[in-house]
Amino acid sequence: MKGTKTLTIIKPGAISNEYIGPILARVNSAGFHIAAMKLFKFTRTQAENFYAIHRERPFYASLVEFMTSGPVVVAMLEKENAVEDYRKLIGATDPSKAEEGTIRKLYAESIERNAVHGSDSNENAEIECDFFFAKCERFSNFE
Ligand code: ATP
Ligand code: MG
Repeated sequence: MKGTKTLTIIKPGAISNEYIGPILARVNSAGFHIAAMKLFKFTRTQAENFYAIHRERPFYASLVEFMTSGPVVVAMLEKENAVEDYRKLIGATDPSKAEEGTIRKLYAESIERNAVHGSDSNENAEIECDFFFAKCERFSNFE
């Protein structure tokens, strides 16, 4: 069965540029239900763990620095086929390669400061949503 949830993070650059509202408007217009949401600030350890898969990459230290530089919005989004559909809506990691109309094309500043995160699999969506949201903080249309 295709999953119905994904985890998004509106990253620090998009927060300081006051793009929370415009990004969430696109999320809703694309048919996603916001089932959980909050402002959150990563500790260094939390950011290092979240991006642990990239530990050996040259951009890792800079990425951790960026993700801890200010608050983020984290949200659990729901829709049929949520992971794949959300990654289509946000566009390529590098905004210069993202399609017109995608969130990263519209709101990203660079490949690092690329506005939003989206889960890359149903399994990771579950893990990421469990990290940020307790059951009593979720208002699901599916569960
Ligand atoms: P995300 O996991 O944030 O949804 P993604 O799955 O499109 O993005 P990943 O390959 O998982 O991309 O990279 C995680 C994040 O690391 C990117 O979103 C971006 O912020 C940063 N990043 C990836 N590649 C580079 C790079 N070459 N230079 C600088 N930062 C990068
Ligand atoms: Mg990723």
